[in-house]
Amino acid sequence: MRVELINTGTELLLGSTVNTHLSWLGENLFPLGLRIARQLAIPDGDIIRHALLETMGRADVVLVTGGLGPTSDDITRELTAELLGLPLEENAEVLAHIQRYLASRKREMNPHTHRQVMVPAGATVLHNAYGTAPGLYFAPRPVAAAGGALSPHIILLPGPPRELKPMFTDQVAPILRSFTGDTGAKEMRSFKIAGLGETQVSTTVEEPLLSLGDIELGYCARPGEVIVRVIGSREQLAAAESIIAASFPENYFTAEDVPLEHVAVDLLTRMGQTVSVAESCTGGLVSHRITNIPGASHVLGRAFVTYANEAKTDLLGVPVDMLAAHGAVSREIAAAMAAGCLRTSGADHALALTGIAGPGGGSPEKPTGTVFIAIASKSRSEPVVEHHVYPTNREGFKAMASQAALDLLRRRLSRMI
Ligand code: ATP
Ligand code: MG
Repeated sequence: MRVELINTGTELLLGSTVNTHLSWLGENLFPLGLRIARQLAIPDGDIIRHALLETMGRADVVLVTGGLGPTSDDITRELTAELLGLPLEENAEVLAHIQRYLASRKREMNPHTHRQVMVPAGATVLHNAYGTAPGLYFAPRPVAAAGGALSPHIILLPGPPRELKPMFTDQVAPILRSFTGDTGAKEMRSFKIAGLGETQVSTTVEEPLLSLGDIELGYCARPGEVIVRVIGSREQLAAAESIIAASFPENYFTAEDVPLEHVAVDLLTRMGQTVSVAESCTGGLVSHRITNIPGASHVLGRAFVTYANEAKTDLLGVPVDMLAAHGAVSREIAAAMAAGCLRTSGADHALALTGIAGPGGGSPEKPTGTVFIAIASKSRSEPVVEHHVYPTNREGFKAMASQAALDLLRRRLSRMI
């Protein structure tokens, strides 16, 4: 089946929004046995109708993203209805959903939100659990504006990613699967490896993976992790996982589409244990990442942002003379922060970070990007401290340091350290 994607939104062409829908949909169509054959990004406006018209007789499935909302530039629904010659009708189900949705947020329906209640006759409503605008599915029908040619399956999806993604996964994927059946042959899996470089990973596993036969292999480096993407049969993927797990027994952490903090929270949950965090240079990013995961409240007790020396002393009991002797960014202070955090929080484990994000503040012995990360655990007498140098910008530094801290926690929970 030929799939085409139309991404609408002036902001995509002005460069203020990155078109992540292209990559996300490409990745999520693949397991259905579909690949995007052609993609078009266009501004809001009448051009949407022309773009759709062009796909008639050429595409089997057209996905359109954006422009379903309440503002004057959101006209995808109206233009599609007009092109297909369908009148708009008030939909009671959508009306009830939007009323409930707004009431739960103490907001009221206005004429703008009311537009989203209008559904083109005969279109299937795709429920929007995370917003007001429903998605829409149009089965093929002859289109007068296209000389009677049959339209493709047309699917309109909302622009906000947190609305689009669940709608695609829960409602669009089953529709598409009903066209393609179970193509089954090839699957894709992303294996994640923490704390190693891209070339280190690829030079180790490339040969054994390619010896599995006809597979597609790709690598993607992210802050503090490398993703090995393998496309192949189910058996080949199982063999690939064995190769990767055996090559990096301490660094390979998941084949699921989840971040490292998810793996750490899962481990804590299963073990019935808790962690507390004391952060200096990461300013709360480690606890932010942990609290992004549902269920975090069962495993995270307290989190301290102790940026100033006095905070390290007041909240964590780090001795003033120790700070004077070693400097705040040191192995000793990271260990003392972790020990103090463990003591005051009563958690099973405590993570602590202290470092120099830059651009200033570095020295020959402790260059910009230096970070000391410590973990203390009730079951151990001494904290373990790791030392890294991530000379990049502040955000990059924080991303790398938080990743290293979460990985330290993961390895502690997996009894690797
Ligand atoms: P809304 O009800 O929020 O107006 P909508 O369906 O009308 O939703 P748009 O107005 O087109 O959607 O986009 C809303 C927001 O969604 C954009 O400001 C942008 O942040 C995000 N967005 C839209 N299209 C994309 C895209 N292709 N990639 C990434 N983000 C996008
Ligand atoms: Mg909009």
